[in-house]
Amino acid sequence: MSSLPSRASTLRLVGGRPCLDLVNTISWRGDTSRLEEHLTANLECLVWGRRAGVVSSEEESALAQFDVRPALVSLRQAVTDHLADVGQPDLASLQPFVDDALRHGELVFDQGRAGWQVTTLDASTPARRIALDLLDHLTDPPGPVGRCGAPACGWVYVDTSRGHRRKWCSSEDCGNRARVRRHAARS
Ligand SMILES: [Zn+2]
Repeated sequence: MSSLPSRASTLRLVGGRPCLDLVNTISWRGDTSRLEEHLTANLECLVWGRRAGVVSSEEESALAQFDVRPALVSLRQAVTDHLADVGQPDLASLQPFVDDALRHGELVFDQGRAGWQVTTLDASTPARRIALDLLDHLTDPPGPVGRCGAPACGWVYVDTSRGHRRKWCSSEDCGNRARVRRHAARS
């Protein structure tokens, strides 16, 4: 896995749910000189999708014959523009993705509760499953969408912290860098 050209196999999953982890498959999107794309090819998309809990290991192999990247990239753009980067989600722009997932999904019982699932395996499977996660987030958000305090980072997460005071994508990454900078400025 370490031979993958992108960091898809090691990328931190800090979004708290797949639809926000999808936004975070670009690092440093606030700084074009450092911007890093992690969904560089189909294999990377599938590795990331398995790690994000969107496809199983068996499905990861079965989906290798399709190109799942275009649908993921187009959903990522929409979630970034109309959910992650705005105060109020733009439902009209997000609806086509949810609509498509529902039209290709089925209502399935899971632990006594019916829910939408995408069971057919094709090029849109990962994106449609994430669109269903997006629907879950929009209808029953466990917390507001938070944005990392480092503007260049651009990563987002569901802020389930008390008082919604989470400040960083990760306290070990951006939080630590800010601490080091503060310390350097003092001394
Ligand atoms: Zn960050």
